[in-house]
Amino acid sequence: MTVESNLKKSTPLLEVNNLQTGFKIDGNYYNAVENVSFKVERNQIVGVVGESGCGKSVMSLSIMQLLPLGIGKIRGGEVKFEGKDISNLKEKEMNNLRGKDISMIFQEPMTSLNPVFTIGFQIAEVLLNHQKITKKEARVKSIELLNSVGISRPDKVVMEYPHQLSGGMRQRVMIAIAIACQPKLLIADEPTTALDVTVQAQIIDLLKSIQKVNDMSIILITHDLGVVAEICDEVIVMYAGKVAERAHVKELFESPKHPYTQLLMNAIPKMDEEVEELATIEGLVPSVIDMPQVGCRFANRCPKAMPECLTVTPLLREVVEGHEAACLLYEESWPQEERVGAK
Ligand code: SF4
Repeated sequence: MTVESNLKKSTPLLEVNNLQTGFKIDGNYYNAVENVSFKVERNQIVGVVGESGCGKSVMSLSIMQLLPLGIGKIRGGEVKFEGKDISNLKEKEMNNLRGKDISMIFQEPMTSLNPVFTIGFQIAEVLLNHQKITKKEARVKSIELLNSVGISRPDKVVMEYPHQLSGGMRQRVMIAIAIACQPKLLIADEPTTALDVTVQAQIIDLLKSIQKVNDMSIILITHDLGVVAEICDEVIVMYAGKVAERAHVKELFESPKHPYTQLLMNAIPKMDEEVEELATIEGLVPSVIDMPQVGCRFANRCPKAMPECLTVTPLLREVVEGHEAACLLYEESWPQEERVGAK
């Protein structure tokens, strides 16, 4: 093995450093993602959780450079894939990377699949774009891929159109397209949201087995903590465009530190408890145009808020080994010079 390939292996597959993504509204940019940093190692499944509007999808669209043209923009930071900054790649270079090294599956397959082309055409298109194979070989491979994602009678399904398939089958087709070129990183954005519970479980099992077989890493964006507990290695909790907490999955579930994570966990229905009402989190995530500029963005919803939470912006810092939280309750674990009032 060469020094170069050894180095490649020891570099995180994906490194996001201080990512800032903004949207142009009435001529001004507002950040929907603010100073987000995290890593994805090889063969790792990283869950990204948080309510709608917390910046999870914007963050993943930024990695893929699929932000709406002229409206969304990466305004700072870097996205490194295998050690190389890809945040400023030209469209042609990015196109080479998308589908081949990094792929994405979206929450609603009906809007991602093209209704006027057959399933076989849509899978073959990805293969022909990135691999030197013939149309005939692409068709054979498309059938194999459909088979690998658990679609029965794949030789018939290649000739069918998206509207002829069930929601679960369409999502399996999306997964087949996403893994067609054996990407190193798969970003799955709420891949089970539009599906019923039984099919959800099947899709999650499928993702888990595909990850093992193909040796790839997955970023799983979801609001479902149950799914996170089942398949993720590491978890990032996002709130209002920032990372609120990050930890290994076991550590996070055993000992959530951030009050937002604690409330999210509390909102998971428990099988062994009879309750009149399910727990909720009062209030709403602030919109990008009303984002507090100082203080904690969760302060107006936080049951543990203190007066200084309105004036001091909490930093994401390690509170126990390998476990980070952005909350003033853990200020004593910050370096002395960063503490409130420290000079
Ligand atoms: Fe709550 Fe304050 Fe911690 Fe924010 S910094 S989560 S408001 S305790």
